[in-house]
Amino acid sequence: MKQPYFPCENLSVKDGVLQFAGQSTAALAAQYGTPLYLLDEARIRQNCRVYLDAFKAHFPAGSLPHYASKANACKAIYRLMTEEGMGVDVVSPGEIFTAKSAGFDLARAFFHGNNKTDVDIAFAMDCGVGCFVVDNEEELCAVEREAAARGRTQNVILRLTPGIDTHTYAAVNTGKVDSKFGAAIETGQAEALTKSALQKDHIALLGFHCHIGSQVFEEDVFERAAVIMIAFMAQMKKAYDFTTQLLNLGGGYGVPYVEADGSIDIPAKIATLAGVINAACAEGGIPVPRIAMEPGRSIVADAGLTLYTVGAVKRIPGYKNYVSIDGGMADNPRFALYKSSYTCFAANRMDEEPDMEASLVGRCCESGDIIQERVPFPSSVGRGDLVAVCTTGAYNYAMASNYNRLCRPATVMLGENGNYVAVRRETFEDLTALDA
Ligand SMILES: *Cc1c(COP(=O)(O)O)cnc(C)c1O
Repeated sequence: MKQPYFPCENLSVKDGVLQFAGQSTAALAAQYGTPLYLLDEARIRQNCRVYLDAFKAHFPAGSLPHYASKANACKAIYRLMTEEGMGVDVVSPGEIFTAKSAGFDLARAFFHGNNKTDVDIAFAMDCGVGCFVVDNEEELCAVEREAAARGRTQNVILRLTPGIDTHTYAAVNTGKVDSKFGAAIETGQAEALTKSALQKDHIALLGFHCHIGSQVFEEDVFERAAVIMIAFMAQMKKAYDFTTQLLNLGGGYGVPYVEADGSIDIPAKIATLAGVINAACAEGGIPVPRIAMEPGRSIVADAGLTLYTVGAVKRIPGYKNYVSIDGGMADNPRFALYKSSYTCFAANRMDEEPDMEASLVGRCCESGDIIQERVPFPSSVGRGDLVAVCTTGAYNYAMASNYNRLCRPATVMLGENGNYVAVRRETFEDLTALDA
């Protein structure tokens, strides 16, 4: 039998059963029930250290990777980020509240978003968020007002669009001039926003931010973005004698979901990027600023796996086959949203030849409730079998809903000092708790 493709080295097989982080998926499903999100703590830490070590080796002192917590936000993950010494990105008062509840020091947080309300801004300031990533002029004025009202100065970087098309899916491509995010360098709006920030009494402008997209595999997009940003920084030095202290290049390194994705050597990419940054700063006659990046997916995606139980298996002769599971688009909407690829297995039949193809579908009342098309399964697959969907640590729990009044699954952390429930399974009482 051909060895199956595993997207991450934390997957293996023992006695025909898929093992995740060295543990039997069948035993975990039996103990905690399905659908179930699993997280591999060691892998999350390891992914953080890849960035932390590369940053230490290649970027100026004070440079820091920030985990983009929108990928998967819960208190357990913020605690891990504290322990690993990572910064974080937050995009809403809910994420700020969660981070704070977990004891995360928000001085090491960037606050993102293209439409922060006055209430959001006030809340973030009162929680001590270290740096706002300001998106536009109205927001800049609102931050100035709230900081003035508190008699303080707020650290700020400005989100710019360098005008780079990453050729990824349109919905995750954010660095183009016509993006809803940030101020475009090309149109002069980035300069206008910089000038305005420098004139504000209660704003300390530290530098600039860009984020060019997500699930990026292309060779040189970060380098290209850095060169454009640094040219702009040199221009701001000339025009306003403004020295950039901090350059945040965003997130977006891709992770493999399926064999065709290939993989990225992140330390090598960062080493190359640092060389490009140093050269561009030298050419522009400006000092190399502190560098930040904001990995989300590449910190948590391959540390996650979802387990489901098979209900019906439907064969429509001459057409197609369906394997239906006890979750679906409510716990993983990514195929419905982006046609995302996943590697999926009949986790308790790993030593049987996958001799049929089926659509892996959920239990929601939607034809579009698909986890993956054309999944190879052994034809013995049937009710009660276990299905594993790999690489679900990012943008699954974070995007989960109660559609069809389904309870969101538990997240179990497979910890170095034992397993624990990081997010408990929702109950029917949770579902009706807010109803009058
Ligand atoms: C989504 C996002 C990230 C994280 O992107 P990943 O692809 O998960 O690494 C980082 N920064 C910003 C501003 C984002 O919007």
